[in-house]
Amino acid sequence: MAIFKDKNYFRVDLSKEPDESLWMRCKSCGELVFKRRIRENNNICPNCGAYFFLTAKERLESLIDEGSFVDISKPIMDDDPLEFTDTKPYPKRIEEAQEKTGLASAIILGSATVSEIPVVIGVMEFQFIGGSMGSVMGEQICHGMEEAIRRRVPFILVSSSGGARVQEGIFYLMQMAKVATVRTRLAEEGIPFISVMTYPTTGGVLASIASLGDVIIAEKGATIGFAGRRVIKDTIAEELPENFQTDAFALAHGAIDRVVPREDLKDELGKLLSLFVEVG
Ligand SMILES: [Zn+2]
Repeated sequence: MAIFKDKNYFRVDLSKEPDESLWMRCKSCGELVFKRRIRENNNICPNCGAYFFLTAKERLESLIDEGSFVDISKPIMDDDPLEFTDTKPYPKRIEEAQEKTGLASAIILGSATVSEIPVVIGVMEFQFIGGSMGSVMGEQICHGMEEAIRRRVPFILVSSSGGARVQEGIFYLMQMAKVATVRTRLAEEGIPFISVMTYPTTGGVLASIASLGDVIIAEKGATIGFAGRRVIKDTIAEELPENFQTDAFALAHGAIDRVVPREDLKDELGKLLSLFVEVG
């Protein structure tokens, strides 16, 4: 399928983030908290310790060295190969997601440094049609891995996704094979790939690229699973364990390497990268 290039493609610039309001209410404890205080506290409620849901931009800012990000995404936009309509036409859905998130697609891709180590990093935006992986996200992830090979730097992918972009029909399934294929090139080239699973990492993203990291980290509290709990329960007609699809469950069953609290995620990435990369 031809992914059309768009002359109106817009790039991510972290320095231009407006701060719309000063205060917000924590959904967990109900307390009114000062937004800057939350940001300084890794987007964790200073009152009760609950994690606030992060946009892709906020996530990116929380992980990389300040001012180091450069958008290196390809100037491509989603196409509508099936002319798909559910409750609304697919192009309309994309347009609304772009307005809501300020992003061109469901992934931010760029170069940056983490603890002064250069990387290529992709971060999914859950608020963009559930962070779903369609042709554009698949292409951007492949582009990111190819750039990592070209630059000889590690590749980091932070997942937050409900899975594949079903509105694109079979093209979404093809992305799973495509990203897995390019991922093998990273291995052949000896380029490390660190996968970071956040809330939620599910469906076709879990079943492909997110599970293919050399090291797989889950943020504490991440949901990690393929199909929804209810679907599985109804299909196998059995009770599921209480902690099914939690970070702890995935760790106990060897699907991930470690669970890291949000406040330690950046340091943890830096430490891991320093094991792979000669610093200095
Ligand atoms: Zn709270």
